[in-house]
Amino acid sequence: MKFSPMMENYITLKEKYKDCIIFYRLGDFYEMFFEDAERASKMLDLTLTGRDCGSGQRAPMCGVPYHAADIYISKLVSFGEKVAICEQVAGTSENGVMNREIVRIVTAGTITNNELIDDKNNNFLLSVYLGKEDCAISWVDITTGEFFTKNYVGDIYNSLFNDLVKINPAEIIGNEQAVNLLNDSPLVKQGIVPKVSYFIESEFNLESAKRTLEKHFKVASLSVFNLEDDNSIRSSGALISYLIETQKNTLVNINEIKVESDAETLMMDLNTVRNLELIKTIRDGKRYGSLLWLLDKTKTSMGARKLQKWILSPLNTIEGISYRLNGVEAFFSNTLIRHSLTALLSEVRDIGRITGKIANGNVMPKDCVSLKYSLEALPNIKFQLSGIGSDAIVDIYSSIIDFSELTKLLSDAISDDEVFDKNNPKYIKSGFNKELDDLRHLFKNGRSAISALEAKEREKTGIKNLKISYNRVFGYYIEVTNSFKDKIPYDYVRRQTLANAERFITEELKVLEEEILTAEDKAFRLELELYERIKNVLRQNVEKLQKVSDAIATLDVLLSLATVARDENYVKPNILKSGSILKITDGRHPVVQKTSKQRFVPNDTLLDCDENKTMIITGPNMAGKSTYMRQVALITLMAHIGSFVPATKADIPITDKIFTRIGASDSLINDRSTYMVEMSETADIINNATKDSIVILDEIGRGTSTFDGLSIAWAVVEYINEKIGAKTLFATHYHELTELEGVLSGVKNYKVTVRESLGEIVFLRKIMRGGANKSFGIEVATLAGVKKEVTDRAKTLLKKIESSDTHKIKLNLSENEVLEQKILPEFSEVERIVLDIDLNNTSPMQAFNILSDLQEKLRGKDE
Ligand code: ADP
Repeated sequence: MKFSPMMENYITLKEKYKDCIIFYRLGDFYEMFFEDAERASKMLDLTLTGRDCGSGQRAPMCGVPYHAADIYISKLVSFGEKVAICEQVAGTSENGVMNREIVRIVTAGTITNNELIDDKNNNFLLSVYLGKEDCAISWVDITTGEFFTKNYVGDIYNSLFNDLVKINPAEIIGNEQAVNLLNDSPLVKQGIVPKVSYFIESEFNLESAKRTLEKHFKVASLSVFNLEDDNSIRSSGALISYLIETQKNTLVNINEIKVESDAETLMMDLNTVRNLELIKTIRDGKRYGSLLWLLDKTKTSMGARKLQKWILSPLNTIEGISYRLNGVEAFFSNTLIRHSLTALLSEVRDIGRITGKIANGNVMPKDCVSLKYSLEALPNIKFQLSGIGSDAIVDIYSSIIDFSELTKLLSDAISDDEVFDKNNPKYIKSGFNKELDDLRHLFKNGRSAISALEAKEREKTGIKNLKISYNRVFGYYIEVTNSFKDKIPYDYVRRQTLANAERFITEELKVLEEEILTAEDKAFRLELELYERIKNVLRQNVEKLQKVSDAIATLDVLLSLATVARDENYVKPNILKSGSILKITDGRHPVVQKTSKQRFVPNDTLLDCDENKTMIITGPNMAGKSTYMRQVALITLMAHIGSFVPATKADIPITDKIFTRIGASDSLINDRSTYMVEMSETADIINNATKDSIVILDEIGRGTSTFDGLSIAWAVVEYINEKIGAKTLFATHYHELTELEGVLSGVKNYKVTVRESLGEIVFLRKIMRGGANKSFGIEVATLAGVKKEVTDRAKTLLKKIESSDTHKIKLNLSENEVLEQKILPEFSEVERIVLDIDLNNTSPMQAFNILSDLQEKLRGKDE
């Protein structure tokens, strides 16, 4: 088939960008043709029309106005499409049609200017290079310029999958091996992370990736960024080359790359992130009720993004943590400064993302106005920070450099309340440029001259409803309705006839029109030119703006943490070297305390590497075991973030990893049975925990028969306590496990207390030494509303079962010698509890409670 020259041009482009929907610029519209049009019209709900494409054939077509294109592009991208923007450029091609080029390809990971991007989240594009037994990923947010890489050796998949979920990229590209393997993984299949799209293998080649990066960063060696791992170079190089290919600009805001490593962070796997509800809750996936929700009192989007990053990658060095904690403390203890800085930060907009737009060339006048207000707040912020003696704050202080020249330029040049509008171009302030002012004056005068002429013509002709109007095709014209036809003067030249009116032009109107339109056109062009110059000045400031944006983000997070600490009565934790004692006095679960209507009962915690490695926690359902264990993990984690903690005193040792295995849960990334999930999580803990880890085990072995379950739970606790030595909190319904206390050094029994009165139970929420020996399962069922008839029957059955001997599980400990147990001197439970009481840290009330508890034990009341 013979196509028209323009269609030929389109088809050549489409050949090259097969996987994209092409937005082909024709005048004021972007048009889509053929299959693109058919698909897009459905997705965007547009009318499908047709256009002659040569030889009388019609091509399916649909289009969107250029000024509204962003909305349509983001919609297509949200459906997983890639959109190639094709613009007219100077000159014509051989066949006489205007030259057109693809100026940018928009994909989910490279979207910059629209409402698809959440202010409070990064929008990452991620690249994976998967080799035979090694792997690296690199990820970039082009809206802020943040660029990271990380490599993996050894157990690649676990760590890789964990990171992919934490980074939560909008788009993933990879080499062939990565595509094959990842797209087959449950992570992709279940849509937890997007499908990996293949990117040219040769771009992952080490030499070419190195060249790409050196050229992009303009450095002779990548060692300036400590970028030395081959695989990291491969994935980073490919990522930059994908960006060059799609963005077709110089990516000036991507000016450094950070090498991330597990060695510098407290590691948490996905279970921990989920179980501790760090970013969202388990039940409904909402931010409300998560740790992030609680700690986020940030005022800027940059701060909100940084806080999330801090929560997901807590630090693991005393220096790093103290640097943040001291910053928080400075604001914690200075309420006046905290309040005034918080108020000032409310005036700061998203400098990070505006800088991204500056770098990408699509900064709008309204962004310039936001930037101006943000920069105007800086000197005041800096003033408030002066004299505060914490390293973090001193660093922020010195990063807030002088932007007065740029602020003045923006303030002089850009008008506050005008938006970019082709037909009403006045976003450049009057007074900024004389030539522009003169042209506008002429243009404005021309408009009033038109009104004067209209009045004069009405007067002259006696046509009362004569009016002078404007349209794009005919320019200015005089319109006379048919009822005044007979009054039309001879010098009126007819331009157009409508059903009930005629349109005319006169010599005088023509001259006036010429004057107005030239002035308008010139003013428009001049405005564009001036704006281009301002954009250039802004571009030269990209790096400085990024620095200040980062400093403001840190300031915002420190202030937010200080505000929460004040509001919620938190305390600064003492960070101790790894291996030290973990001691929390009056610890609280930060979120339960905040959201629960009932008064929160604080509890103490003592864990060390010696006599108190493992806490076996028993107590009925709903007593507060999970809450307690999570609170210990959360307090440890918060301390590693650099946050104050919900306690009256907290000594927290540097911790390398936090593991949580909680309840019967569905697997995040697999569809295995509950028990299988439980066991593979347990295996993960056993394989990876160290003596510096914290392990939370909320039930183990519940997914199988009692004997199996109890045995596996027993063996796991024994192994962790004896062979690993991690600080472990283990909640269980297997009361038999409390026997471990007498057998293994390091294991201590605790119970969450309840009182039984008239067959009902009252939850006291207090953690005490000793093991519970009753489950109160039936009482809890009563509380939950199970019919009395059923619970009464259950009580009868229980009595029967208890009186028979068959149910009793007696583990013969002497047969367990393989386990190299240290047998403790034969003390009774009551004796052991008495020996363990730390009298210096026990209040009279606590002593009374312990005593009453011991009495109950001796009287056998719990039995
Ligand atoms: P368990 O794990 O023993 O079944 P949970 O830890 O789930 O119990 O606690 C049940 C409920 O009790 C929680 O939802 C919480 O509202 C409340 N709770 C737990 N601990 C406390 C506490 N220390 N103070 C006040 N309320 C608490």
